[in-house]
Amino acid sequence: MTGRAVVLEEFGAPLALRTFAVPSAPAGGMVVGDCYGGVCGTDLHLQQGHLPIPLPLVLGHEGYGTVRELGAGTVRDALGAELAPGDTVMWASSIACGTCPPCRRYREPTLCENRRTYGVNRAVGDGEALSGSWADTIVLQPGTTVVKSAQGVEPLAAMALACAGPTVVHALYERRPVRVGETVVVQGSGPVGLAAAAFAQLAGAARVIVVGGPAERLELASDAGIGDVHLDVTGADDPDAVLEQVRSLTGGGADLVIECVGVPAAVAQGLTLARRGGSYLVIGQYTDAGDTLVNPHQIVYRQLDVIGSWAFTGAHLVEYVRMLPTLAARFDLARLVTAFPLERHAEALEAVRSGGVMKAVFTG
Ligand SMILES: [Zn+2]
Ligand SMILES: [Zn+2]
Repeated sequence: MTGRAVVLEEFGAPLALRTFAVPSAPAGGMVVGDCYGGVCGTDLHLQQGHLPIPLPLVLGHEGYGTVRELGAGTVRDALGAELAPGDTVMWASSIACGTCPPCRRYREPTLCENRRTYGVNRAVGDGEALSGSWADTIVLQPGTTVVKSAQGVEPLAAMALACAGPTVVHALYERRPVRVGETVVVQGSGPVGLAAAAFAQLAGAARVIVVGGPAERLELASDAGIGDVHLDVTGADDPDAVLEQVRSLTGGGADLVIECVGVPAAVAQGLTLARRGGSYLVIGQYTDAGDTLVNPHQIVYRQLDVIGSWAFTGAHLVEYVRMLPTLAARFDLARLVTAFPLERHAEALEAVRSGGVMKAVFTG
């Protein structure tokens, strides 16, 4: 048996669709077929060589698929449900080492110093060829958090927020929750921004204002039912006027502002959108995009809690999957997704890079 996978062989160069032999399932792990693989903003940075990763590498750290073969000793998922070939599952991208200081002492496995991540640092040369989700088949190693997919939720809907959803669960559960009745401003209208807005709505926020762009993305968010108010700041002639509009809509500032843009300059703007005594939660700056100017007086004058949140771990994926039926019932998640066969990988990446699609997902 063979599997096809999209491989990053050289930074900045076109990717290649390659064929690999499918090994038998490792003890404690499994072989998963009929994979769906999401394209994440991080993948664009990986392809450009912005992060130190080993090559060649099968990309794709977000996935959904069907269990083909269970390795010896693999019988249950992360919630204790029995697993069998034919079950559809999702899995967490990273496995924490369990022994470094963040894992063992700081109770924050997301900060693990030795994370092994599918589609990021499991190179083909390590003998783990099929270790990314931009493939029809992936081999999951022992220690992977695997969870049976949510009943009644279509694969593409489940994939809409596959990386963004758990990232937001981590941020809202571990770092700064949304409280009932709060006014929330979300900066950014990509998948992370929409996940933040959707979870804020489900958490009981009184009003969720999405500040982003371009206009088509905001329209798509609105059509999917995500966010109460949508303001285009990227296409505005006068962005300051839009920020002033946010302050006016929130009566001087939001209880909580969530940064999901990833552009450093957004932080200086975001600090001015929180009310005095409010919170500023920074999620979007996952890749180091450089320095920016901020006015620290805003932090003191507004007496802000400024909080960072990094990535997620298996427990947060489990919560995302648990929430999926609720998310899918309220929001039109599948509408956010554009499906691509593996052969059209170059087109899919370009569509994500240009902002032409909200979320690209490979369908094998
Ligand atoms: Zn991602
Ligand atoms: Zn660790």
